[in-house]
Amino acid sequence: MHPDVTQEIKYLKGVGPKRAELFNKELNIHTFYDLLYYFPYKYVDRTKFYKVREISGSMQHVQVIGKIESFEQVGVGHKARLTAVFTDGTGFLELVWFKGIKWVKQGLKTGVKMVAFGKPSVFNGCVNIVHPELEIYEEGKKTVSGSIQAFYNTTEKMKKNYLVSKSILKLQYNLFSAFKQPLPETLPYWFVKKQKLMPLHEALLNIHFPENNHQLKRAQFRLKLEELFFIQLKLLSIKSYRQRKFKGHVFSKIGDHFNQFFHQHLPFELTGAQKRVIKEIRYDVGSGHQMNRLLQGDVGSGKTLVALMCMLMALDNNTQTCLMAPTEILAVQHFLTFTSMLDSMGLNIRLLTGSTRAKERREIHHELETGNLHILVGTHALIEDKVVFNNLGFVVIDEQHRFGVAQRAKLWSKNTVPPHVLVMTATPIPRTLAMTVYGDLDVSVIDELPPGRKPVKTIHFYDKKRAKVFDFVRSEIEKGRQVYFVYPLIEESEKLDLENLYDGFDLIKQAFPQYRVTMVHGRMKPAEKDAAMKRFKAKEAEILVSTTVIEVGVDVPNASVMVIESSERFGLSQLHQLRGRVGRGADQSYCVLMSSYKLSKESNIRLETMVRTTDGFEIAETDMKLRGPGDMEGTQQSGLGFDLKIAQLGKDGQILSFARNLANEIIENDPALSDDRNQKFKQQLRKMKKTEFNWSSIS
Ligand code: ADP
Ligand code: MG
Repeated sequence: MHPDVTQEIKYLKGVGPKRAELFNKELNIHTFYDLLYYFPYKYVDRTKFYKVREISGSMQHVQVIGKIESFEQVGVGHKARLTAVFTDGTGFLELVWFKGIKWVKQGLKTGVKMVAFGKPSVFNGCVNIVHPELEIYEEGKKTVSGSIQAFYNTTEKMKKNYLVSKSILKLQYNLFSAFKQPLPETLPYWFVKKQKLMPLHEALLNIHFPENNHQLKRAQFRLKLEELFFIQLKLLSIKSYRQRKFKGHVFSKIGDHFNQFFHQHLPFELTGAQKRVIKEIRYDVGSGHQMNRLLQGDVGSGKTLVALMCMLMALDNNTQTCLMAPTEILAVQHFLTFTSMLDSMGLNIRLLTGSTRAKERREIHHELETGNLHILVGTHALIEDKVVFNNLGFVVIDEQHRFGVAQRAKLWSKNTVPPHVLVMTATPIPRTLAMTVYGDLDVSVIDELPPGRKPVKTIHFYDKKRAKVFDFVRSEIEKGRQVYFVYPLIEESEKLDLENLYDGFDLIKQAFPQYRVTMVHGRMKPAEKDAAMKRFKAKEAEILVSTTVIEVGVDVPNASVMVIESSERFGLSQLHQLRGRVGRGADQSYCVLMSSYKLSKESNIRLETMVRTTDGFEIAETDMKLRGPGDMEGTQQSGLGFDLKIAQLGKDGQILSFARNLANEIIENDPALSDDRNQKFKQQLRKMKKTEFNWSSIS
């Protein structure tokens, strides 16, 4: 590294120990390098100067060269204000201050050429600027006026200590003055040249002190591309390493199990998307390397069936297979689906969860080891050390974001030849996020719903309209349908939420005395939960009151109404998941979002989005814009620190794709980065924190 940039920030001219401490604590800036990579959040173009007579109230910012003719303070105490008359010969401008009057007044001088900058407004035909920035005008000298000015985020504590955006700009200036030589390039020369990138030093300089808009764009492009490129290079090199190292089982044939199921048992025609994905997987598992694939598809798009058919391929090639689900309810449901769909095919399918009895557990262990067990479905119980397979060839992980890295790794290592791994998401995630979080996996997308589905109608009601909602629910039950009522459960106040749920349960029992109401929540024992779910599935209850435990995967086609209480407290992807529980049968389904009258701006957007669309990919995009990629479901566990310094996954999708292509080209030609020309890449990858990426070698 450049010798100057590793120095502690306190040694920079203008910083010192006190400011250094603020930088450390408030912004996590410790070295010259950290400050250099502390990028502005916005720019204001101050290259244009206006004449007073050109100014209108609709302008964002203006900047005028002129002189103060006079100034005066009006009023006292908190009603005081300071006004100055400013002119450039074409008209008069009033400058106004309400705060810091004493301090501002000391600095005002009449008759000196100055630059006034700020947001103009027009009041009684007179133009004024409230709290303008003033600077002495010096002919020919380049200061912030006359340039594109960078703005930096600071904290309240920093502001109190006069460490504001402008101070940081000044420090950046000092920083560049301290460099005795240009900062060394982090990308190989041939790469910079080929892609016509701005060199690093110039890019950093222009990020803080843009020469003009064009240079600023080039600087941003260079730094964003580099940031995204190295992430992709890392992910793709991991993927390539894995492919070279692990050959995997070669599933060379499609056999009786698959064919028999396909021709005799398949209850419906596969959708085009399902067929395509099965082909993609089929190709992959036959290719002689171990598969790691993510299957993305909207709620209800039929991922389970795809998984099942691929598992049959594994059986056809004399290996065992398993499916792991995050909850007991879901595992049981998959187990039941599999046993009924594969009925009379002579397969041994077993369920293993936390509540499997010891005796049965021992049987399962035994059958697994001897190879008599074909398909194992279960929860986390699958990854226990005692569970040993005879020859595990294919693993499916449903709703994979609910599992941690270590848990997935364990399944992976259950066989000497690592099994093929198919992970499935609960809801779609934006493409840019998938490329980053799951960038080392291959991705298949089911982008088509089974035919005949009627989109769920979604309606938002305020709580005071509850009577109307209940009437509607009653009329649907009279038609023979079943209804979910969902209450939020947020961990910090689990007790309170549980009370809410019980209150809700009582309320609903009172409101619907003629119907049977059942309840599930996370605190219940698995057997109780199971019994309640079974009652609902068997139509022994018309209404199911629950927390979000029913969110994942539960399938009751006759349930056609979903009422979500306090819906403003749920995240978008959670709402979408919940809504996916209805609309699974032939009837028109409804999702009712109940909320209080007072909604935050964000809650409003969430509820509006739900009402407007049922497209999971669109909802995921909106979700990412609202929450930022770091808070999206599934990214927390990834371990990928989402402290992207300049690129934004929501906006820079094109640069991301470009970066990925470039990285791909390099890895394809030189998988281990051993060519001389790629040494800079290799060094840079080594520098990237190991912890950021250790998850990916095993997902
Ligand atoms: P998800 O992708 O959310 O896991 P599921 O696999 O649970 O969705 O499928 C949702 C429902 O659609 C199930 O009841 C399943 O039997 C049904 N289904 C799956 N594929 C098809 C198809 N090709 N045609 C009709 N129904 C299908
Ligand atoms: Mg599912």
